[in-house]
Amino acid sequence: MTILVIEDEPKTGDYLQRGLAESGFGVRLARNGRDGLHIAREEEIELVVLDVMLPRMDGWEVLAALRAYPATAQMPVLFLTARDEVQDRVRGLELGADDYLVKPFAFVELVARIRTLLRRGPVREEAQICIGDMEIDVLMRRVRRGGTPIVLTAQEFALLHLLARRQGQVLSRALIASQVWDMNFDSDTNVIDAAVRRLRRKIDDPFPDKLIHTRRGMGYVCEAVPAAAA
Ligand code: CA
Repeated sequence: MTILVIEDEPKTGDYLQRGLAESGFGVRLARNGRDGLHIAREEEIELVVLDVMLPRMDGWEVLAALRAYPATAQMPVLFLTARDEVQDRVRGLELGADDYLVKPFAFVELVARIRTLLRRGPVREEAQICIGDMEIDVLMRRVRRGGTPIVLTAQEFALLHLLARRQGQVLSRALIASQVWDMNFDSDTNVIDAAVRRLRRKIDDPFPDKLIHTRRGMGYVCEAVPAAAA
C-alpha cells in the first residue's frame, strides 16, 4: 500500500512521511503539485494525501488532472486545507476528492480516514473492463474480443489485467516486473518482453485494431486508439 503525500511545507511533509511509514504504509513524498501528479501517473499509488496550497500546480489543479486521466480517475484523494471554509470543502468534493481534513489535524484522525478510504478502495475495482472491442471479466477471468473468447494463462491474464486497469498509462518494465512477477527491475527484462509478445499473439495478432502498444524506451501501454507520437 503506497500513499503519495503532496505537501510543500518541509516540516509537515517530513512529519507525514515518517508517521505514515511508522503506521505501515509505503510513502512517496512530492514537494510540489507537478511532481506529485507525475508520481501519481507513473507509479503504483493507492491513495493521495493532497495539500491544497502548493507551488507550481495547486491542489485543485492536481485533483482535476488526476480525475481527467483514466488511470488515476478512481484514485482515492484526501485533501488537506488550511482554512475551514465551506467553499474550499465544496470545491474539493465537487472536483472529486473523497475526503478532506482541516489543518491542524490529529495524526490518528488522518490514519483513520486513510484506512476508511482504502477499505472502500477494492469495491471500486471494476469487475468488467472494456477497451475497444475487448471485454475483460475480471471476476471470471474471461477475455473476449469482438465476442470471440480468448484463452489466457494465469500469468498472461495478470499481465493483461494490469495493463488494462491502467489503460492509457505507459507502464515501465520495472513496474510490470514488480506487479506481475514480483521481481526487481534488475531482473532480466527480456522476460517481460517475451511475455508481452505471447500476450499480443493472442490479444492483438488475430485482430486489425491493436490494443497493446510499445513506447520505445518507456514500456507498454494498453489503449484502443493507437496514440500518435506521445
Ligand atoms: Ca502548502
